[in-house]
Amino acid sequence: MGLIDNNKEECFACDNTGVMLIPNNIKKFDWLFDKYADSGQWNLYECRKKALNEVGYKRISCQYCLKGKEK
Ligand SMILES: [Zn+2]
Repeated sequence: MGLIDNNKEECFACDNTGVMLIPNNIKKFDWLFDKYADSGQWNLYECRKKALNEVGYKRISCQYCLKGKEK
């Protein structure tokens, strides 16, 4: 029927995991992210994960691709 297969699209909001990670403290997250990025030791994905782990985060189903929608 020519329907678009959403599963083949990349989702940058959730890195295709279906779960968005929301930092508990956005300002601190930004500061840490910049600190890690400036160090040049990690790629941006790793910097984000490290910063998230440090400030803490909550997990919500991705509002953009709905891959996290489960029964
Ligand atoms: Zn998504």
